[in-house]
Amino acid sequence: MTARILDGTKIRDQVFADLAIEIQRLAAQNIRPGLAAVLVGENPASQLYVKSKIAACEQLGLASWMHTPPATITTNELLRLVDQLNSDNAVDGILIQLPLPSQVDTKRVLEAVDPAKDVDGFHPVNLGRLVSGRPGLVACTPAGCMEILRRADIKVEGANAVVLGRSDIVGKPMALLLMHANATVTICHSKTRDLPDVVRRADIVVAAMGKAGYVAADWTRPGAVVIDVGTNKVTDAKEAERLLLNFPARLEKFRAKGSMLVGDVHPDAVNTAGALTPVPGGVGPMTITMLMSNTVKAARLRRAKSETQTAPSAAAAR
Ligand code: NAP
Repeated sequence: MTARILDGTKIRDQVFADLAIEIQRLAAQNIRPGLAAVLVGENPASQLYVKSKIAACEQLGLASWMHTPPATITTNELLRLVDQLNSDNAVDGILIQLPLPSQVDTKRVLEAVDPAKDVDGFHPVNLGRLVSGRPGLVACTPAGCMEILRRADIKVEGANAVVLGRSDIVGKPMALLLMHANATVTICHSKTRDLPDVVRRADIVVAAMGKAGYVAADWTRPGAVVIDVGTNKVTDAKEAERLLLNFPARLEKFRAKGSMLVGDVHPDAVNTAGALTPVPGGVGPMTITMLMSNTVKAARLRRAKSETQTAPSAAAAR
């Protein structure tokens, strides 16, 4: 069996097309959703991520601002910047690019963001809303995984879903979203016993461990849906050979480049799973996509008049 490939870039294009319509609707009310990114210091990976997020804003016609305080910034100085962004009405979303330098109290800074502008979905208020199944802003990567399942018409209700990983930004919110979508959810972590057996019972596997190719192909039940969140850079030739034994063309590319990105699921799973997200090109593009979606949603919830407010009342129409 060869798995159906769940192409994140195609799904991103579909979501962007839907967002373009909503952005137009907001423009009719003179609202241009805006994202403020805070990039502290000069970490090259963070610079690259923020650049891609700003580029996505520009592609969609959203307003964006980039704040680049130096790596020496204090917690209080950063709190003052967050305050300023909280009270700026043109800013709908605030993105604090992590990691922050060690002298900064990251939790305090993230909790200072107005929950209505918390487009990363990291604020305890938004996490609480997610736990209790109320509408709010949901962390982008797990929201992106749900969007893939939804747009690929994969039935979640009643499915046995296994989430590998319990981080605050991926594993936990992912498990909650699947549970709210009526899956029966098992959450696994580094102390889970008999992991292969647990994974073999899954109809849907979401792997978010950060371990290259750890989930062997024969752990996957034939026909299962595999959502591979893992994004691991491999530079070791022996490891690349172990992972790409059955993919000579990819192995050649690795040899030419000296590195490659691999998920948490062994690439051979393409021959056992029913459907899977490739790495790269699966979950990856969906994270920025959902950041855009959250920014537009935050603008709508905070600034747009609801349809009942804009529609003339029966009395006024008379
Ligand atoms: P994390 O905070 O390091 O969490 C890893 C989780 O995996 C932990 O809960 C850990 O268990 C569990 N784990 C580690 N080894 C395990 C094992 N042998 N068996 C079972 N569970 C194990 O990582 P994260 O931030 O959630 O990210 C996970 C992966 O997703 C990374 O590769 C990251 O790069 C990727 N990611 C991708 C995107 C994207 O846009 N595509 C976004 C975010 C993250 P314990 O809790 O017991 O330690």
